[in-house]
Amino acid sequence: MDEYYLGEYQNYIDGVWQSPKSGALMEVRCPGNGAVVSRVPDSGKEDIDAAVACAKRAFEQEDWAFQPRLRSSVLYQWAQAMRQHLNPLARALSLETGKPIAEALFEVNGAIGYLEYYASATRTLFGGSTAVDKNSLSVLCREPVGVVAGITPWNYPITLLMRDLASALAAGNTIIIKPAEQTTACTFEVVKLLELVPSMPKGVVNAVSGRGAAAGNALVEHSDVDMVSFTGGVETGKKIMKTGADTMKKLSLELGGKSPNIIFADANLDKALPFAIKAIFTNAGQLCTVGSRLVIEESIADTFLARMKTEVEKLKLGFGLNEDTQMGPVISEKQMQKILGYIEDGLQTGELVTGGRRVTENGLDSGFFIAPTIIKNPAHDSRVVQEEIFGPVLVVETFRTEEEAVSLANGTIYGLAGAVWSKDIDKAMRVARKLRTGSAWVNCYNKLFPECETGGYKQSGVDRAGGVEGLMKYTEVKHLCVDFA
Ligand code: NAD
Repeated sequence: MDEYYLGEYQNYIDGVWQSPKSGALMEVRCPGNGAVVSRVPDSGKEDIDAAVACAKRAFEQEDWAFQPRLRSSVLYQWAQAMRQHLNPLARALSLETGKPIAEALFEVNGAIGYLEYYASATRTLFGGSTAVDKNSLSVLCREPVGVVAGITPWNYPITLLMRDLASALAAGNTIIIKPAEQTTACTFEVVKLLELVPSMPKGVVNAVSGRGAAAGNALVEHSDVDMVSFTGGVETGKKIMKTGADTMKKLSLELGGKSPNIIFADANLDKALPFAIKAIFTNAGQLCTVGSRLVIEESIADTFLARMKTEVEKLKLGFGLNEDTQMGPVISEKQMQKILGYIEDGLQTGELVTGGRRVTENGLDSGFFIAPTIIKNPAHDSRVVQEEIFGPVLVVETFRTEEEAVSLANGTIYGLAGAVWSKDIDKAMRVARKLRTGSAWVNCYNKLFPECETGGYKQSGVDRAGGVEGLMKYTEVKHLCVDFA
C-alpha cells in the first residue's frame, strides 16, 4: 500500500518547513481502503505562537498590506502553479478524503477559480468619501483586519481553503491556516506550491497542522489573532464564538445545513431528477449545502421516488482513484457509525426507499462505504429530519400546499441553502423569497461561484464567503477625517 503514501509533513512558518516543537505526528488513513496516506504534525500552542508572531511581523512590515498590485500578481502566480499541478493535487485530495478522482479534479479547479477571482478583486477594494461640512471631508478607507486564522474542514479542503485564503490575502491580511486533521497533506501540497511564487513575502502565509482542541483552540485564544475565519460544524462554531469573545475577535463562521429541495408537481421532473440525486449524493452527502431534505408535492412523490430509486441503485461505489467510481466512502469509521445510527432513527417512523446499510461487497470491506439511502416521511421532529447527518442519507417529506412546503422547508435550526422547482415562475420566486436561507436556487441546485456569496441564516453561520462580501469581511472600515478650515 506504499503506493498511496504521500509522505511526512512539517509546518510552514515564516517560509520555512519545520517540525512541531514536540516532534509529535498524527497518522492519516485513506477512508476508502485504510492505507496510511500521511504523517502530519500534531502541533501545540508553542507552534501556534511561533506562526502568529511571524504573521504579525509580516503584517506590520506593510509590504503586503498596502500593495494590491503585488497581491494580485502573487495570487495569479499561485493559481498558475496549481493548474500545473492539478493531477497530483487531486490525487492527494482523493486519497485523504476518498472522493472520486473526477470530483477531486473539479474541486481543485474550483479552488483555482477563487484564487483568480480574488487576484482581480484585490485591485478593486473601494472605500468612499462624504462631504460632511464646508471645512472637512470624510474619507472611508478599507484596510485589512490584520492577522487572520483560517480553520478549515475536511470535506472540500482545497476549495474551502482558497475561498478563505484567497479573499483574506486579497484584502491584505496575513494568515495562519489550520487544516482539518484528515486533510493536512493535500492542504500542505497547495502551500508547497508557494515555492514557485518567490515574490510572496515570507510570513504572509503560514500553515500549522494539529487537532482542533489544541492547535485550533490556541489560534482562537491568541490575543494577536485579529480574526478567525472558520468553516465547520455548528457545535465547533459555537465554541469558537464563546472563546473568541475573550479577545473580542472578528469572526466569520460558515457552518452546517439541512437544506430543503422543494419540488412542485408542475416542475420539469426530468431535469429535477438528476439534480435531486446529485444534490444529496455528491461527495457521499458530505457537503454543507447538500439537498438532504426532499420536500415534494404529495401527488408526484411515489412516481418520482420510484425513478430516483432506480437511478440511485446504479451509482457505483468504490475507491476514489478508480476512474469509474461515482461515490466514495464517508470520512471515518466513527462518522459511518453515526450515520448508521441516524438511519436506524429514521426508520422508527419512516419508510426505507433504498439503501440503509453499510456496503462491504466487492472489496469495499476495508473502507467506510454506506449505500445511498432514501427514507420517506420520517416524523418531522425526528433527528434524521432535524439534524445534519453529513452522509448519503436523503429524507423525504411530502406536502399538499405551497404554505406547507415553505413551513416544512424552514422548519429546522439551519438556514444555509435551499431550492425550488416549478415551471410556474411566480410561484417559484414567491417560495424562493420565503426560504430563510443564504442561497436559494430556482430550477437548479448547488450552483456555487466564486463571484457569488454563500453563507447561513439562523444557526448555519455568521457572515458570507465568496463574492464581494467575502472580500469586504476581511477589511476594517476606517473613517479618515480631513479638516481644512
Ligand atoms: P469540525 O467543526 O469538526 O472541524 C472543522 C475544523 O475546526 C477542523 O480544522 C478542526 O480541527 C477544527 N476544530 C475543531 N474543534 C475546534 C476548536 N475547539 N477550536 C478551534 N478549531 C477547532 O467540522 P468537520 O467535521 O471538519 O466538517 C464538517 C462540518 O463542516 C459540517 O457541519 C459541514 O456542514 C460544515 N461545512 C460548512 C461549510 C460552509 O461553507 N457553510 C462548508 C464545508 C463544511
